[in-house]
Amino acid sequence: MICNKEKCTGCSACYNICPKKCISMEYDDEGFIYPLIDKNKCVNCGMCRKVCPIINDIKNDNRIEPKTICAYHIDDKILEDSSSGGVFTALADYVIRQKGIVIGAMMNENLELFHTKAEKREEYEKMRGSKYLQSEIRDNYIEAKKYLEQNKLVLFIGCPCQIAGLYGFLENKYYENLITVDLICHGAASKRFFDKYIEEKEKKYKNKIKSISFRDKKRGYSKYITKITFENGKEIYINAIKDSYMTSYMKYSIYRESCYQCKFAKLPRIADFTIGDFREIKDKSIIDRYEKGISVILLNNKKSDIIFNCIKKDLACIERPLEEATSTNRNITKPSIRPDGRSYILKEEGTTKELQRKYCKRLFKEYIANMLGYKIMLKLRKKD
Ligand SMILES: Cc1cc2nc3c(=O)[nH]c(=O)nc-3n(C[C@H](O)[C@H](O)[C@H](O)COP(=O)(O)OP(=O)(O)OC[C@H]3O[C@@H](n4cnc5c(N)ncnc54)[C@H](O)[C@@H]3O)c2cc1C
Repeated sequence: MICNKEKCTGCSACYNICPKKCISMEYDDEGFIYPLIDKNKCVNCGMCRKVCPIINDIKNDNRIEPKTICAYHIDDKILEDSSSGGVFTALADYVIRQKGIVIGAMMNENLELFHTKAEKREEYEKMRGSKYLQSEIRDNYIEAKKYLEQNKLVLFIGCPCQIAGLYGFLENKYYENLITVDLICHGAASKRFFDKYIEEKEKKYKNKIKSISFRDKKRGYSKYITKITFENGKEIYINAIKDSYMTSYMKYSIYRESCYQCKFAKLPRIADFTIGDFREIKDKSIIDRYEKGISVILLNNKKSDIIFNCIKKDLACIERPLEEATSTNRNITKPSIRPDGRSYILKEEGTTKELQRKYCKRLFKEYIANMLGYKIMLKLRKKD
C-alpha cells in the first residue's frame, strides 16, 4: 500500500501519476478499490507517495465561513432529473457554453460507475443523479490536466476525496481554468454489496436491470425513492426505508473504512464549490418547493463567487446563514460515524435484506417520519 489501507480513499492519484504504469486499481474482498503495485515494474521514484492526498495535506485559501446559498434550478424538467436542486446542470451549462470540458460520474448499462468527460449537453446529462457508491476515477486526472494545459475550461465534480486526489495529482499547481465541485458526502458504499443487491433484484424479477436511479423525484424527494428499470420495460419504485441497499447506505453501515475518518469533511472545504441538499430551510418563500429538490451551495473562494454570478440566472436562490446548512447536514463538517455493524455486514454471508435487518434495523420513529413527510416533521420539530 502507498498510505495506510484504512485511510486510503481509492482516489487514484497514485494510479494516474505513476510514470511506469505499474499501479492498478483493484477491488478487495469487501468491495472497495485500492492501488496495487507491480513490484517488478516499480522503480521507487516515490511519485505515488508525493501526490497522495492522505500522506500530504492539500493546501488552499478557501473560506472557513463560506457564503451559503439555498438554490434550485428554474427549469422544472432539469430539476426533476437532478438529485437535488440541479446546481450541477447550471455549472455544467456554463462550462459547455465556454467550450469547456465537464468531468463527472456516469453509470453505464452494466451498472458500472466511473468518471468520464463530456463536451456536449447530451453527454453531461447522463451524469445527472447521485449514485450512492464509489465512482472509479480511472485516468481522468490525466485527462483533466491535458485539457487544462490546452487552456480549456475544466469542471471537475466528485466526492471531496476525489477532488483532493485531483489537486494532489496536479501537485497543487494553480490553474485559473479549473473549476472544482465537491459533493457533501455520507460515504462511498461497497461495490460488492451493491452488486449482490442487483443480483437479488434481477433474480426476483427474472430480468436484467437496465438502469437504476437512487433518487427518483416523481414519487417524493425527501423519501429517497429508488427507481429500477428492467430490460423488459418494467419499472419498480422502492422507498429507501424499505430498501436493503439504501437503508444500509443511509445507516452508514457499508462505507469504505476511510470514510469514517474522512479528512475532507470539514471547513474550509477542498473545492471551489461545495454542493449538497439543503436539509432544513427556514425561509418561508422557498419551503413549499422542498419536494422538488433544493440545493445548498457553499462558495468557498473568490473564483466561486465570480462563477456563481454567471450561473445564478439559471437558479432561484437566496443567501442563508452557514449555520442553517451545517446544523442539519453533518457531513459538511464531520465524517459519518462508524456503526458497530460495519465490522460484520460486509464479511458475513446472507442476502442484503438479512444483513440489513441484522446490522442496521430501522427504528419505529423513522417509519413514522417517513409517512408524515418533511413539512409535517418540520412543524412538529418547531413545537418541541
Ligand atoms: C455518494 C454521495 C453521497 C452524498 N451524500 C450527501 C450528504 O450526505 N449530504 C448532502 O447534502 N448531499 C449529499 N450528496 C450530494 C447530493 O446527493 C447531490 O448529488 C448534490 O446535491 C448535487 O445535486 P444536483 O441536483 O446539483 O446534481 P445532479 O444533477 O443530480 O448531478 C449529480 C452530480 O454528482 C456527480 N456524482 C453522482 N454520483 C457520484 C459519485 N458516486 N461519485 C462522484 N460523483 C458523483 C455526478 O457526476 C453529477 O455531476 C451525496 C452525493 C453522492 C454522490
